[in-house]
Amino acid sequence: MEKAKVGIIGGSGLYDIEGLTILEEISLATPWGPPSDSIIIAEHKGITAAFLPRHGRGHFILPHEVNYRANIAALKMLGCEEIFAFSAVGSLQERIRPLDFVLPNQIIDRTKARASTFFGEGVAAHISFAHPFCQRLQDLVAPLAQKLGITLHRDETLLCMEGPAFSTRAESELYRSWGAGLINMSALPEAKLAREAEMCYCMICMCTDYDCWKEDEQHVNVEMLIDNLNKNARSAKNMVKEILQVTGKARSCECANTVKYAIITAPEKQNPQTVAKLRTILSKYF
Ligand SMILES: [Zn+2]
Repeated sequence: MEKAKVGIIGGSGLYDIEGLTILEEISLATPWGPPSDSIIIAEHKGITAAFLPRHGRGHFILPHEVNYRANIAALKMLGCEEIFAFSAVGSLQERIRPLDFVLPNQIIDRTKARASTFFGEGVAAHISFAHPFCQRLQDLVAPLAQKLGITLHRDETLLCMEGPAFSTRAESELYRSWGAGLINMSALPEAKLAREAEMCYCMICMCTDYDCWKEDEQHVNVEMLIDNLNKNARSAKNMVKEILQVTGKARSCECANTVKYAIITAPEKQNPQTVAKLRTILSKYF
């Protein structure tokens, strides 16, 4: 079912994409269950994209409850090769201010007990994840921020926590001492699964607050956070339109061949049921 080459995942505050022409709304099942919501196929100046709100329209799914495998599989099944994933983040460093955007280049994983791989159950594979985000996509996005007047940071480390409660002060200080620049709850396992599915994945972080470490700052409160979420969502919607004008081209990065040497299990020993599931997203190997 080839519907779109480009997938957009909306985070907190970004549940719809206004200004695009909606072509179709698709509800589909994957071998890993249903995605967070129906997927909107929309078009802007001749380029088609598939849009999926990570938390569902109306925000009813918490970060630890998201079926990340179904979300990534659904986008892959619709033909997406590239994902631009928006996420609301807290800043752990003075230099990253609320309403700034960030393209992180590293992640520290502090999530717990989330299904983080398409493999297992009789098919073993280990993919490379040293560089968790697609640099090629980041290079496409960076100039767009300048065009839209959005302050953008790069080369930052993102810490992904379990949530849903925000950090304690001690945790926030600990993450700062590790050199992390920002914190969210949904980069993982989303980025890892996209890599396993051989998709290019670029996370676009939208800063809402200074987490809880900053002495002179109002601590994270829901009212301030929602206001910044809405402002960031407006910037994100403008950015989506710009992204569609520069993306969907032939892929020159390594993302398309991630699994080529990653599968370890001998073909005759692979669990046929798992193979059948994997065939929906990685048909060139299974
Ligand atoms: Zn790539």
